[in-house]
Amino acid sequence: MKFGGTSVATVERIRQAARHVKREVDAGNQVTVVVSAMSGKTNELVGWVNESSLLHDAREYDAVVASGEQVTAGLMAIVLSDMGISSRSFAGWQVPILTDDAHGAARITDIQADSLVSRMNEGVVPVVTGFQGISSKGRITTLGRGGSDTSAVAVAAAVKADRCDIYTDVDGVYTTDPRIVPKARRMNKIAFEEMLEMASLGAKVLMIRSVELAMAQKVRLVVRSTFDDPDAPQIAPDGTPGIPGTLVCDEEEIMEKQIVSGVTLAKAEAKITLRDVKDKPGVAAAIFGALADESIVVDMIVQNISDDGQFTDITFTVPDSEFDKAIRTLKAAGDRIEYAKISGSKGGAKISVVGVGMRSHAGVASSMFKALADKGINIQLITTSEIKTSVLIDDQYAELAVRALHTYYGLDKEDA
Ligand code: ADP
Ligand code: ASP
Ligand code: MG
Repeated sequence: MKFGGTSVATVERIRQAARHVKREVDAGNQVTVVVSAMSGKTNELVGWVNESSLLHDAREYDAVVASGEQVTAGLMAIVLSDMGISSRSFAGWQVPILTDDAHGAARITDIQADSLVSRMNEGVVPVVTGFQGISSKGRITTLGRGGSDTSAVAVAAAVKADRCDIYTDVDGVYTTDPRIVPKARRMNKIAFEEMLEMASLGAKVLMIRSVELAMAQKVRLVVRSTFDDPDAPQIAPDGTPGIPGTLVCDEEEIMEKQIVSGVTLAKAEAKITLRDVKDKPGVAAAIFGALADESIVVDMIVQNISDDGQFTDITFTVPDSEFDKAIRTLKAAGDRIEYAKISGSKGGAKISVVGVGMRSHAGVASSMFKALADKGINIQLITTSEIKTSVLIDDQYAELAVRALHTYYGLDKEDA
């Protein structure tokens, strides 16, 4: 059972979360809890580090920002004990949760779960700090923002849990961000691959890495709300007794495959165009190699064919925050790349439609373009994969586009 930042924001909320744990324990389940820091805490800690020195040591950054989870793990253990449930906290290093030493974005390499399993066998509920681990050099590491989801899935896989329940401030995964589209509908089930696309495309309800890991390790994930009454009968979304929330599972478990199951929006996408690039082997490698060397993540890429086989244009997107660095990098590499002109702009929005049913259906891209055209929205770039179609549009039409597509693909809540 993993509780996110808003779910442990105060001692009162920790008590509410603990009542969910008590329900599961009373039902005869063995439980390990994973907690985030109180909401806002990690931001505050990051702020203090930056205030101390912009050029700080990443190992000390991790020592500071990992501390928020230690507070909530201890408090959760205290509150559980107070309710008569034996419990103790575990910091990442105490489990241990072993990671590589990419401080600030570490990956879990192994979890030695014996201590957790033997505690559970003794009737104790271990409470593990999310977000953190320990490197082979013995230093505290953190997994990247939102990383407690990944801690939870990794712990679930390590203890061979039947389920990993992610308790948060929404009661499941929605067809699109419910804060943007009030008509968004909760999904009963979503396939791992769809969830992975949604997470990559801006639906930050689960950290991408946690979905990858759940898919690889076959962990059944449930997204559900902490704010539901912990003592109410547990009713699944289909109305039968079961687990409330959205189940993230294998595609085979989903009977009715939607062509489009969700719509996502990612803002602050910058577009860069290189004009009259020499049309010869190795040019794209030189461009994207130069950007990769600077750790700039490129997303959509479009290259035109040239009429005469001489020159071509290449357009791609990077996050707004990387725009200036990308332009600088490409200007500096100008002699190796040979292009006539570089231009670009910040503030694009990427809108995507996602659905495993797309695999077996033609015409999703064209219907998406038509739905946008009907609203007079111009499309700047297009990319597709087997189960998604993305377009880059002007930022000012982003919400309009999401709402239009949500309605167009029949995703709006029935009673809305
Ligand atoms: P936690 O602190 O529990 O980890 P997060 O803030 O990381 O919670 O994630 C939950 C939030 O994700 C919700 O409050 C919601 O606004 C947002 N969100 C974005 N897209 C979606 C979606 N498709 N379905 C549900 N929630 C979404
Ligand atoms: N507390 C960490 C963060 O805010 C990890 C998490 O909440 O998942 O990023
Ligand atoms: Mg989160």
